[in-house]
Amino acid sequence: MSYNNYSLKTIRWWNTAFVVGVLALTFTATPLYLWHYGLDWFQVTLFLIFFAATGLSITMGYHRLFSHLSFQAHWPVRLFTLLFGAAAFENSALCWAADHRKHHKFVDHDNDPYNISNGFWHAHIGWILFRVQPETDFSGVKDLRRDPLVMWQHNHYNAIAGLAGLGIPALLGGLWNGWEGALGGFLIAGISRITCVQQMTFCINSLCHTLGRQPYSNRCTARDSGLMALLTFGEGFHNFHHEFQHDYRNGVKPWQFDPTKWSIWLLHQCGLIKELRRVPEGEILKAEVAEQQRQLTLKLRANAIQPSQPMHQMLQAAHDRFQHALADWECRKAAYRLAANQKMRASRERIAELRREFELAKKQLRQAVREWREVCRLAQVQYA
Ligand SMILES: [Zn+2]
Ligand SMILES: [Zn+2]
Repeated sequence: MSYNNYSLKTIRWWNTAFVVGVLALTFTATPLYLWHYGLDWFQVTLFLIFFAATGLSITMGYHRLFSHLSFQAHWPVRLFTLLFGAAAFENSALCWAADHRKHHKFVDHDNDPYNISNGFWHAHIGWILFRVQPETDFSGVKDLRRDPLVMWQHNHYNAIAGLAGLGIPALLGGLWNGWEGALGGFLIAGISRITCVQQMTFCINSLCHTLGRQPYSNRCTARDSGLMALLTFGEGFHNFHHEFQHDYRNGVKPWQFDPTKWSIWLLHQCGLIKELRRVPEGEILKAEVAEQQRQLTLKLRANAIQPSQPMHQMLQAAHDRFQHALADWECRKAAYRLAANQKMRASRERIAELRREFELAKKQLRQAVREWREVCRLAQVQYA
């Protein structure tokens, strides 16, 4: 551990006992149970259901809903994510969101609770085991303090967490197979699942600020990694997330693995979630092109290379085409939105025509970005 504020005086005994305790039980008691009693389909299913319910409650509920307000949810979704979010034993949603909003506001600096500049282990688990900052301050979550469900979960957090995270798995295991089943439920869908979900979340603060690419910005250490997305219910596209934190998607491209985004979309289709927040596509493409241009310039400068005149012209032309397509897209989008919002004044045919023009401008913008990327790639290969 590289951070030097760790000492016996700063240790958080309860957190340490719990996190280390569940880790130790996961690697001792669970294998012993499996060796002695074996594993049946019921225990595997129970584990998977609790893993998905608690993991998604953290990523969809604690993170994208309560911390970033990236959509609005009806009470059943809020209640479900508060109950199963507590079952992940990562503190109440109010405390979690207070820390997380500080993380975004002060990312990579001293007031960031899981500041990666203090070392990988500090960001991963050190900040939980040691008190290196003053206690959580709630000044950044005044909106959540007005939510009666959030405050109910905050005030009864220990009871809810114990019941939903350990009591129910043990009870269901018991109903299935007596004391042997209850012990299995407690150890597999309870203790071991808590370890998996906790380590998954901790990885977002450590590995997602260490591994991967920075396609949108290098303003902070956050990175995009498809592998991390596989392990974290889609949260691995962390560079996008830090650049556009209020977007309900982290894997913004349609093909990117983001089960949290898909769950939010599904609940939206069922009418349980509304007001999904999305960053306009043009803004996202603008950030990508600016970052590619910055990285190319940096590379050329580092190798003291002046691009040849034809290459310079190709880059300039591709960038100009992109700027032009972006301006055209923005203009067509505004015209279409205006007509669609003032239905009374524009005929149906006129709205349809504006929509077609807007869709065409979108295609041309995407094409311009593809061409820009290709020229960029050529320049990278030529001067590698
Ligand atoms: Zn982060
Ligand atoms: Zn976030």
